[in-house]
Amino acid sequence: MEELKERIIKEGQVIGSNILKVDRFLNHQIDPVFMQRIGKQFAKLFAPQNISKVITIESSGIAPAVMTGLALQVPVIFIRKKKPVTANEEVLVTDVYSFTKKVTNTIYIEKGLLTPDDRVLIIDDFLANGEASLGLVRLIELSGAKVAGIGIVVEKSFQEGRRRLDQAGYAVHSLARVASLEKGEVQFLD
Ligand code: 5GP
Repeated sequence: MEELKERIIKEGQVIGSNILKVDRFLNHQIDPVFMQRIGKQFAKLFAPQNISKVITIESSGIAPAVMTGLALQVPVIFIRKKKPVTANEEVLVTDVYSFTKKVTNTIYIEKGLLTPDDRVLIIDDFLANGEASLGLVRLIELSGAKVAGIGIVVEKSFQEGRRRLDQAGYAVHSLARVASLEKGEVQFLD
């Protein structure tokens, strides 16, 4: 998505050699009009997949996921990293290692929220090593539902995530694919 690449070049900040900050439109301040275009783009890419629900993990995945759900006119589930006291006891759980925070979180989904009839689209802001996406895959599959695709706003193609998701056979679409962040400069793959 050309507009996304332009905004990354203009507003993105490179931290070290493997972190990209896009705090002006996605990770802190959100540009809702731009997010809506991102949602429409995912909806177009995954239109043939008959999506019944969108799922993401808090917090930065929520904005693009909601906009995708709006465009597809389907519900959006966001997975929390901590179990609130209001959760009922009937939950499915898995552990996810966080690339940016360097901690392992137990994530969960209430039983019955997804059913075997559901075709679920995973949306996330970044793809690094694939831990977050694969954690969501496990929760969906534990629920008996089907993973219908994975939509990523910014893929860091020089890390392991894309290869792992491709190898596992999931349909992945990334709106921007970053080949390198060396020397403070963003290089795109295509
Ligand atoms: P993964 O689970 O694929 O290893 O990492 C993806 C998750 O870590 C995303 O949900 C995102 O929140 C965070 N993340 C990974 N790399 C970056 C990055 O370069 N910038 C930002 N802002 N978040 C990242």
